[in-house]
Amino acid sequence: MKCPACEKDFVKLSPSDEQCSIECRDRWDEIVEQKEADKIAARQKRLEVKNTRKCPYCKENFVKKHNRQKYCSLKCGRNGSKNKWMKKNAAKVKAYKRKYYYAHREEVLAYQREWKLKKDAKEKVESKNRLLEATGDQGELSQKSPTAE
Ligand SMILES: [Zn+2]
Ligand SMILES: [Zn+2]
Repeated sequence: MKCPACEKDFVKLSPSDEQCSIECRDRWDEIVEQKEADKIAARQKRLEVKNTRKCPYCKENFVKKHNRQKYCSLKCGRNGSKNKWMKKNAAKVKAYKRKYYYAHREEVLAYQREWKLKKDAKEKVESKNRLLEATGDQGELSQKSPTAE
C-alpha cells in the first residue's frame, strides 16, 4: 500500500501498519495533528468572522464575546445607548419644548423680553465704559505728548 507520509509504496508487515517506517509514522502523526489544528483554527476563524461586529459608536470592528454584545466596550455601550436615546427621543423633546412654549407663551415671551432688556442695559453700560476708557487714554496721551504746542 501507499505510505500517506512519504507517498511511497510499501509492504504491510502487520495489520496496524499505516506508514512505511517509524519516521513516517511520527511524521504522519505530526501531519494529522497539524491538520487538526488547522481545522480548529479555520473553525475559530469562521466563528470570528461570523461574530465580528462593527461597533456602532466608535466604528471599530470587534469580535463579540457573547451573543447580545453590540458595542466593543462598556464605554462605547454607555455612550452609544445615550446617543440612541437622544436620537429616539429628539422629536419627543422638541415636541415637549414646543408644547411648553405654547402653554407658557406669555411667560416665555416675558422672560425673553426681560432678558433682552437686561442684555441691552448691560451693553449700554459696557459701551459707555469703553467710551470712557478710550477718551481717558486719549486724554493721558495728549497730556504726555510734547508736540501739543
Ligand atoms: Zn513512508
Ligand atoms: Zn466601540
